Amino acid sequence: MYRIYQIKLKPGESTDRLPQKILKQIGSRDFLISEWHIVKESIDARDKQDIRMVYAVDFTAVYKKNPKKQARLAANPKLKLELAPDLTYHPAVYEGDSFEADAAQKPAASERKASAGSRTAWQETGKTKEEACTNHLPTSSEEAQPQSAQETQAVSARILEHRPIVVGFGPAGMFAALILAQAGLRPLVLERGQDVDARTAAVERFWQDGVLNVQSNVQFGEGGAGTFSDGKLTTGIKDVRIRKVLEEFVAAGAPEEILYKQKPHIGTDILRVVVKNIREEIIRLGGEVRFHTLVEDLRVEDGCVSGVICKEVGNATESSYAVRDEQGDEIQNVQRRSTQDIGEGGNIGKAADGLCASASVTATCMPCQTVVFAMGHSARDTFRRMHARGIAMTQKPFSVGVRIEHPQDLIDIAQYGAPGRELGLPPADYKLSWRCENGRGVYTFCMCPGGKVVVASSQAGGVVTNGMSYHDRASGTANSALLCDVRTSDFGSEDVLAGVAFQEKLEHQAFLAGGSSYAPPRCTWGELRDGKAPQVESCLPDFAIAAMREAMPHLGRKLHGFDDPDAMMTAVETRSSSPVRFVRNAEYEGACSAALTEADTLQAADAAANTVQQAESAVPGKTADTAANETEQAANAAAESADIKTLIGFYPCGEGAGYAGGIMSAAVDGIRIAETIIRKWKPND
Ligand SMILES: Cc1cc2nc3c(=O)[nH]c(=O)nc-3n(C[C@H](O)[C@H](O)[C@H](O)COP(=O)(O)OP(=O)(O)OC[C@H]3O[C@@H](n4cnc5c(N)ncnc54)[C@H](O)[C@@H]3O)c2cc1C
Repeated sequence: MYRIYQIKLKPGESTDRLPQKILKQIGSRDFLISEWHIVKESIDARDKQDIRMVYAVDFTAVYKKNPKKQARLAANPKLKLELAPDLTYHPAVYEGDSFEADAAQKPAASERKASAGSRTAWQETGKTKEEACTNHLPTSSEEAQPQSAQETQAVSARILEHRPIVVGFGPAGMFAALILAQAGLRPLVLERGQDVDARTAAVERFWQDGVLNVQSNVQFGEGGAGTFSDGKLTTGIKDVRIRKVLEEFVAAGAPEEILYKQKPHIGTDILRVVVKNIREEIIRLGGEVRFHTLVEDLRVEDGCVSGVICKEVGNATESSYAVRDEQGDEIQNVQRRSTQDIGEGGNIGKAADGLCASASVTATCMPCQTVVFAMGHSARDTFRRMHARGIAMTQKPFSVGVRIEHPQDLIDIAQYGAPGRELGLPPADYKLSWRCENGRGVYTFCMCPGGKVVVASSQAGGVVTNGMSYHDRASGTANSALLCDVRTSDFGSEDVLAGVAFQEKLEHQAFLAGGSSYAPPRCTWGELRDGKAPQVESCLPDFAIAAMREAMPHLGRKLHGFDDPDAMMTAVETRSSSPVRFVRNAEYEGACSAALTEADTLQAADAAANTVQQAESAVPGKTADTAANETEQAANAAAESADIKTLIGFYPCGEGAGYAGGIMSAAVDGIRIAETIIRKWKPND
């Protein structure tokens, strides 16, 4: 098969004309096109008077005189013709003791450097020292190396006695589980939220009545944060696994066009079907998916993960729970306060039926040797627990801002010269950025043509916004995040979780500014520009407001009308990416303090974990109560001063771990980790 680029059609012109166009481009009357399919479709709107659809097409040609004989063509850069590359996904297989990730499967050099852990390595990734706090990183010589005789033993005995566990059923966990299931490893997925149907009902209720279910919401539940999204499948990464992700989406019910559109998009309506079908496929292959199951803790023995501690979470929260092993014996009892009914004066709006009820919940220790931790960037309770346990992580910069909305026609006219529907074109998108004089970057992100702005809260007393759309993108309104970069030096603390606190503070401010009912504060750009938007201003850092005021006129010059004073702004957009990054080595395994690998962990880390429970129950946006704070700081200091060791079998994954920034990159990260487990861990059959 050959691939040819730059075949052009007018908008609305049938793609059936492509074979004819291909023959014209290769300049031959002797051939017929016997087989063809589109591999890329994009829009060239640089000349608004002559907008074109541009295609790359794979095809086979035969001789006109002898249609049974395939034509042999020579690659020709002038004709933009080449042999079609083979994009077949090759599943990983167990490689035994000779496990050595080959060049193609090894993480990108930049990632290897980042995880290598030397200060220089972080600097080489382009991050400043502030952006890449290194306090938990292993030295490069420690990277991926067993540090003790015990570890060496553990590495050589990588036999899977138990099925792999995957925590979180967002894109990262879902694709990790799917690949593991396809390899016959029957993964067990533990997801705190509900299945997509129940979750959709909970989310609708939240949007209508302001009743937040903290376990199942826009961030948590089947499909993860991506389910109530625009379903844009664009990504900045280049990876052979992207095709595999798209093909699995299509197999699960996504439209085939995502395989070739330059900017593929599914829409939340179709995504809800797709994630359910992927779940069913995992189950068909022998895997299991348990909803309402919150993973609270890790069990560690001899430097290896030996289990996860999880408990069922419905609509009730617990006051205490017993941790039991699989035989039902109690191995730990934990007292905790409800995290749902906390807020200014104890009243932060409504709670779902039963949400504030106290109940005694039993936790179970699920034995495992490998756990893929794909908890997403909103699992702040899990971050806190992992940090208190001594899991190595670092601060990570992110961005904050608002969602900005314009009439879709305004964007179409700026991009195409006329509304897209009149030209036979989809609603237009944009991507804008401006570097401010003080060095801050202001940029648009996650643009949703024909979409809508949603409140995407997952924590009681916090408001965060995002954008989503349906497949038809027909709302008539365009929105995107308008963000300003936040550096770790803005956090005002060396604490690894300071970025989480920074986000929580802004989200709580937005909650208060919106009237404590989960209604987001809103204003027009004109009001923010003129200092007449106190509610929105109250939940943004001063530097971000100043940067937006400087950037907007420039962005308006790049995209006519973007700085229209009537453009609506909704606050606050805080979760553009994770505020932490888990330390990982070149084989994607996480790390933890040496104390954790050596101690009888359940006993040793209880004090810290209980303290974290108290910290979780603090008012979002405020620091935890003093006692909790002090002990947590002590836990931090202990973790920071301790040596860091690879935690065998622990695989931090996806966006929450700091290794992805969207549906596609999260899914690819999940696949990479699943492949590593398959290649490295021997199935016990
Ligand atoms: C409204 C919205 C719109 C978006 N639009 C787009 C878009 O158009 N395109 C795009 O590329 N990206 C979009 N994103 C971002 C994208 O959804 C995320 O980048 C992606 O989902 C990250 O995948 P993940 O699997 O790493 O984490 P997540 O999707 O966050 O999944 C993590 C899962 O883990 C579960 N979990 C957390 N803690 C625990 C625990 N302790 N125990 C058990 N389960 C746990 C959560 O419930 C969740 O289901 C959007 C996000 C939102 C919120």
